[in-house]
Amino acid sequence: MQLSSGKEREVLRLIETIEELKQWVSENKATGAGIGLVPTMGFLHEGHMKLVETAKRENDVVLMSIFVNPAQFGPNEDFERYPRDMERDQELAQTAGADAIFAPSAGEIYPRESAIVISAGRLADQLCGKSRPGHFDGVLKVVTKLFHLSEADRAYFGQKDAQQLAIIESLVEDFNFPLEIRRVETVREPDGLAKSSRNIYLTGQERAEAPHLKKALEMGKQLAIGGMDPIPAMTDYLGENCSGTIDYIQLLSYPDLTENVTGEAILALAVQFEKARLIDNLLFTIKGN
Ligand code: AMP
Repeated sequence: MQLSSGKEREVLRLIETIEELKQWVSENKATGAGIGLVPTMGFLHEGHMKLVETAKRENDVVLMSIFVNPAQFGPNEDFERYPRDMERDQELAQTAGADAIFAPSAGEIYPRESAIVISAGRLADQLCGKSRPGHFDGVLKVVTKLFHLSEADRAYFGQKDAQQLAIIESLVEDFNFPLEIRRVETVREPDGLAKSSRNIYLTGQERAEAPHLKKALEMGKQLAIGGMDPIPAMTDYLGENCSGTIDYIQLLSYPDLTENVTGEAILALAVQFEKARLIDNLLFTIKGN
């Protein structure tokens, strides 16, 4: 315990091994505490903090994992230069209300190459899955481990990564994982840019252009709700206002990600800037005729 402004405050526990994590989990389970899990790759921002705050309201204790998961990066992606700052992350996680951080090494999580492959299948054929082959299989690999190791009652994911959320929800539902997946809305900068650990890699000029992603989505949403195809207008708008290259703009049903878009829909895009690939999306309802 540590004294802070006259009140006793639990010190955030830093856990680096599976053995220690099992101990922490069993101590909490023994007291009947509900466990909320917030999986992240660190370099925390207000988006991650909102996940922790939401988890803290709904659970007795919150475990945040910080693990830059090599399995979800392709050979030419930014695994090596993904930003990391453990000291700052610990402070932010504690401020947000986390009780423990699980920050294992890659060797701790993947002591050997497993022969078993978990595949996201059809759900990875669209959006980011198309341009990042194997990415969601890597995500499923790590979350399966984290769900089992943490024995969490609830796990928290951001709508910012809506395809990831849909795939994880499907994993949990289809294979009866004993936990609930909770969705948290995207946290944005005042100008609309979705918070992301990768935003630090934008140049000044790109940062000034980046709010146009959200603006393009808003415009496309109105067109889609009005029964029109939003893609051409969004493509033109981004072409005029952003120096980045459009990776995709897609309108799909959500969460099943098909091209039959009546009902719950996702309008999503990805833009590749020089050193940062940004994604964003809006979820909304399209009424049938
Ligand atoms: P990451 O560290 O980028 O893997 O993200 C960890 C979790 O935080 C994922 O569930 C993300 O969807 C979520 N997240 C990332 N950015 C945001 C944001 N701007 N708002 C809300 N959640 C976010």
